[in-house]
Amino acid sequence: MSARILVVDDLAPNRHLLEVKLAAEYYDVLTASSGREALEIAAEEKLDLVLMDAMMPGMNGFETCERIKSNPETWHIPVVMVTALEETKDRIRGLEAGADDFITKPIDDFNLMARVRSLLRLKMVTDQLLSHTGHSLANSRPLIEEIDRRRGEILLVEDHERRAEKILKQIGTAHGVTVESDPKAAVERLQGGFDLAIISMVSSEFDALRLCASLRGSHKSRELPILVVGDPEDEERFVRAYDLGVNDTIIRPIETQELMARVNTQLRRKFYADSLRENFNENLEMVVTDPLTGLGNRRYFDNTVQPLFDSLNSKKEPFSIMVFDIDHFKRVNDILGHDMGDQILKEIAARLASNMRAIDIVARYGGEEFMVAMPNTTEAKAMKAGDRIRSLIGGTPVYVDGQALSITTSAGIAQVRPGEKLRDVFKRADDALYKAKLGGRNMVMSADTKKAA
Ligand code: GH3
Ligand code: MG
Ligand code: MG
Repeated sequence: MSARILVVDDLAPNRHLLEVKLAAEYYDVLTASSGREALEIAAEEKLDLVLMDAMMPGMNGFETCERIKSNPETWHIPVVMVTALEETKDRIRGLEAGADDFITKPIDDFNLMARVRSLLRLKMVTDQLLSHTGHSLANSRPLIEEIDRRRGEILLVEDHERRAEKILKQIGTAHGVTVESDPKAAVERLQGGFDLAIISMVSSEFDALRLCASLRGSHKSRELPILVVGDPEDEERFVRAYDLGVNDTIIRPIETQELMARVNTQLRRKFYADSLRENFNENLEMVVTDPLTGLGNRRYFDNTVQPLFDSLNSKKEPFSIMVFDIDHFKRVNDILGHDMGDQILKEIAARLASNMRAIDIVARYGGEEFMVAMPNTTEAKAMKAGDRIRSLIGGTPVYVDGQALSITTSAGIAQVRPGEKLRDVFKRADDALYKAKLGGRNMVMSADTKKAA
């Protein structure tokens, strides 16, 4: 789905101009002619970005922005203030109102699209982070604000001392800025430890675009945010910079508020993404892993198999499901105790997992029941695989506390029928397992061929 952008301006020609430009880039555009109308739309519609005219009669753009940012339901929507040329006062006022970025009139297409792209990328990561916190939009705010207060470590690649000093003065109190004048050394330093690279295209001594290309080509700096500084006449090189994967650009003379807004946007996106990786991968891991066996759990299985199932189904490739169950496990537990039972479960899980192909999905689905999804596998092949594992488990004793135990398993297999729901495949595999149990256990049965392997 394309991003939804709200354009707010009291003048119809201005609204129309922006609407046409954005729609040409396939964005979904809504318009409002006043602050009030903008607030109504923001409350009702899911928005990804607001372009807000600063000067409007009645409620002006700053006040409207302030209200969007203080509403628990809309605070996370990025707002770009559209201000008159060179109005520093307006920019400070915009920052105070919580605006995320600025764009000056007359609006330059290239700059407009760069702002839009940059903030929409931020919004995507913000949304993802918000959905992972499990809190409501309003309750997630403190977490986001905590991340927003982080100091970024920035490497400024600039070989002209005075130009470097100027940028240092502009952002050096909010963030840590290190200056590097040698592009080769910069690539090396940017392989770790920095949150953002600001690269000057102004120097005639080194090729900034080549530097950007080598950063993007290196595994460790592929995702690093890059902001490129250039002169107004550098437009063609800016385009090439974006093609190389640079995240944002800024044109000299550099305005402090504008630089700060752009640096902060890049850092926020980086920190949100870091936080997602650090906190939620770990939680996600815990949520989908069975602690006893280390295999995926039921949730993991269901969540992994469904999309795979959909894609294979549409490609009409064979796909089989196998359910494995330990024979008379209740008796094993009763005789040896639950702890020994757990050790056996672990060993069976390890044998099962290590004897399937890498593309098969193996999970502990229930107490002593394991599920295996086998992409690109006919029922006949699945039967062979199942029987190999059955005999491997039953034919080799399980050692627990020095005791050699003979444990057997039974399995049921079903191959997906055209148009069949995954649920129904599971059900047929289960029925086949039941037949294996009835047939005497230590046996693999299929749903369709009605015979043991
Ligand atoms: P069948 O051959 O028909 O499968 O008989 P069964 O005894 O294995 O099957 P049943 O479903 O009657 O019992 C399953 C038993 O598995 C019940 C429980 O004692 C045991 N079990 C389930 N989860 C665990 C677990 O996490 N640890 C241990 N030690 N035992 C478990
Ligand atoms: Mg106006
Ligand atoms: Mg059992």
